[in-house]
This record gives sequence, structure tokens and C-alpha cells, in this order.
Amino acid sequence: MAEKTSRIAGFYKLPPEERVARVAEIAGLDEAAQAHLRNTGNLDAAAADAMIENVIGTMNIPLGVATNLIIDGEETLVPMATEESSVVAAVSNAARQCRDSGGITTSTSGALMIAQVQLVNVANPEYARLQILEHRAEIKAICDDTDPVLLRHGGGFRDLEVRVLEGRRGPMVVTHLIVDTGDAMGANAVNSMAEAVAPSIASWTGGQTYLRILSNLADRRLVRARATWTLDAIGGEGVRDGMLAAFDFADVDPYRAATHNKGIMNGVSAVTLATGNDTRAVESGAHAYAAQSGQYRPLTRWEQDADGNLTGVLEMPLAVGLIGGATRSHPTAQLCLEIMGARTAERLSRTIAAVGLAQNFSALKALATTGIQKGHMALHAKNIAVMAGATGDEVEAVSAELVKAGTVRVDVAEEILQRLRQ
Ligand code: NAD
Repeated sequence: MAEKTSRIAGFYKLPPEERVARVAEIAGLDEAAQAHLRNTGNLDAAAADAMIENVIGTMNIPLGVATNLIIDGEETLVPMATEESSVVAAVSNAARQCRDSGGITTSTSGALMIAQVQLVNVANPEYARLQILEHRAEIKAICDDTDPVLLRHGGGFRDLEVRVLEGRRGPMVVTHLIVDTGDAMGANAVNSMAEAVAPSIASWTGGQTYLRILSNLADRRLVRARATWTLDAIGGEGVRDGMLAAFDFADVDPYRAATHNKGIMNGVSAVTLATGNDTRAVESGAHAYAAQSGQYRPLTRWEQDADGNLTGVLEMPLAVGLIGGATRSHPTAQLCLEIMGARTAERLSRTIAAVGLAQNFSALKALATTGIQKGHMALHAKNIAVMAGATGDEVEAVSAELVKAGTVRVDVAEEILQRLRQ
């Protein structure tokens, strides 16, 4: 084993298999471990190496398919990449229970992204604000010239907003470039525009520009989903009332809202990841949007309709695309889009919103009835069985006994495994 160091000169220039050898030397990995890392599965090492820096392998996450979804009248299979058990089952169950009432209906506010340009060191910020607004035509021209390809695909500059903010170091004037990014998530597209526009903003106002980057609070790219679950489908008024009480709790308590929204993101992030989109961009947007009223709130709202049925709505920003990033370069992402039948970024975002709503339905229903652990048990038990050392058929046998015993713990799994092996 080589000396323990994190300083490996020229590491970034090595091909992935040599990086594996260098890391193995330092971390003391044997041949089997190195072979494991070199097996990159269905994303070849060269493709992975082109995506990020210092690649030594790939990290496989299970890919499941949620069934039963009807989204805007279309039967839709939704691939989901997640390491968490019960997530795919929860979406499929929720979707099955609203099929009779037509499935899930979605809408969007359009594909507008916001790029921000920060301007400081202006004595008269309100005056500077108007100076910038007066240059709208020039700003539009600079933005559109930056990305003729986007323009050809129907996107481009749409609107201008300028805000004056009081910072600790003095006032700043923040310009928002509002850009239709079409089928792209649009981060690179709008970042380039912000960088191109900034020198002009500085020269018009005599100030100094610093940050030029998109906002992940993509509140001009909202996606909405709604659905009705009949009393028959959910099991009666008691279940409905429990679910409404659960929503009420989240609506008034950020401690609960955080977990409520985490459940929504179980679905949202899994589809985002499966399609090679930027999960962090979607997540930061979701949480910032949830806090926009000044209190962190649920992304969904639940009500009872005139017939006593349960209705749910979700509204959240969803900046996802079909062009750019890993969406194009990851072969599995391409297949996932094909399975889903998403030919536009808009359809992808609607599908993600539908999954988020379905996910929330299942979580609330489980919480309001049997509790969350029961549904989790079977799959959780499998994970625990594996943790206890079970392999092959042992996994099923050990997990079945764990569930039967009602105590899903590693020590219990180890005892069961020992007994089975004797
Ligand atoms: P991109 O720049 O790779 O692709 C977008 C470009 O593709 C457009 O600018 C346009 O020129 C072209 N294009 C071709 N056909 C198009 C069509 N039909 N519709 C729209 N554009 C089309 O990617 P992007 O979407 O601008 O950026 C996404 C990437 O940026 C992601 O990988 C993300 O992780 C990364 N990123 C995110 C952040 C952030 O969220 N804060 C910051 C920086 C980078």
C-alpha cells in the first residue's frame, strides 16, 4: 500500500483505468475491488470520463418503472432511478387509485428561465434601474445573438425585470433576463446571455457587475398537476380526513412540510435522475419555491370536493430538458425518455409533476392509515437481509421471516441467516 496522500499530481490527465490503479494503491484495494470499479456497466468508461472529472467508475442505482399512470389522457410508463425502497410502488399505487377518475391532469406556465446580473457601486440605484430598462431592445439583441441555435428552435429573450436590493455592503441592482429555453434546461444558455449582457449594463450605469448566472428559483417555469381520488378508491371518509389532517399539519409546520416535500421529491428527483437531468437544480428550485411566502410550505395542496372526494394539486418549478447535459450523453437517459414517450421538455416536466403528486398521495395515505413503516417493511427487510450478509435466495427467505416477525433489524436478520445456513 502506497503512502496515504490525496495529492496525486496529474491525476486528472490519466485514463480512468490508471486512476483506478492509483487510487487502489493508496486506499489498499485488492484486484477484485479494482475489477468492480472498472466494470462500468451500461455507461462506458469513456462516456463517463467525458461527463465529469477524475472518473474512476460509475455508480449504479436501480431503475424502476412506475405503472398505471394516465397523464393528460395518455397512458404513461415512467422510469425512476432511486436507491430508496417503496418509491416506485407508491407512485404506481397512487396512479392506479385515480385511473377511474381520469388520472392526472397537468399544465405549465411555459419554459422561461431567469438569469441574474448583479450590479454594484452605483450611487443612484433607482436611476440605474430605469437606465437598464430603457435598453430592453439592445439587451434582447445581445441575448438572442448569443444563442442563434436556441432562437432557431423557437426560444430566446422574452422579458426584462430589474430589482433594487439593499445588501449589507450597499444597494445592488439586479437585472433578470427572462429567456424561453425551449427543450433545454437552459442553465448554460442563460448563463452565456448574462455574461454577454453584463459589460453593457456596467457601461450604461457606470457601476460594476459581479455575478452573472441563472436563478434556480425558476418560478417562470412552473408545472402543475391535479387529480381526484374518489372516496371508494381511497377507502372512505376516514382515510380522506386523515389525509387532509396530514396536509393541514404540513401547511402550518415547516418541520412537517420539509418531510412532506421530501416525499414529493422522492418521485420528482427519481424521474429527474433517470432522464439525466440536474437533480440539484430541480431540488433547490422546489425548496426555494416552497419558502416563497416567507414560511416553508408544502408544494401540494389537498381538499375535499363537493362530492366528498379527495383532490390534490401540486405546483412547483421544474427546470428540466431533453437537450444538453447528461440528457443527451447518457444512453440510459435517452432510453428512459423513449419509454416515457417524452418528446418535449414540457411533456417531461408534466410527467415529473404527475409523479410528484402521486408520490405525495401515497405518503399521506400511508401516514393517515397504517403508518409509513408497514409499506416500507417488505423492501426494507430485503435491504436489511443483504446487510446481514444474505445472498441469492437467502435474501427472500430472510426478509420474509423478518416481516413475519415484525422486527426488521440487522441483528435479527443475522440470527435468521445463521439458522438457515445450519
Ligand atoms: P446546453 O448548453 O448543453 O444545451 C442547450 C443549448 O442547446 C441551447 O442553448 C441551444 O443552443 C441548443 N439547442 C438545440 N436544440 C434545442 C432545442 N430544441 N431547444 C433549446 N435549445 C436547443 O444545456 P443547458 O440546458 O443550457 O444547460 C444544462 C446544463 O447546465 C445541465 O447539465 C446543468 O447541470 C448545468 N448547469 C446548471 C447550473 C445550475 O442549475 N445552477 C449552473 C451551470 C450549469
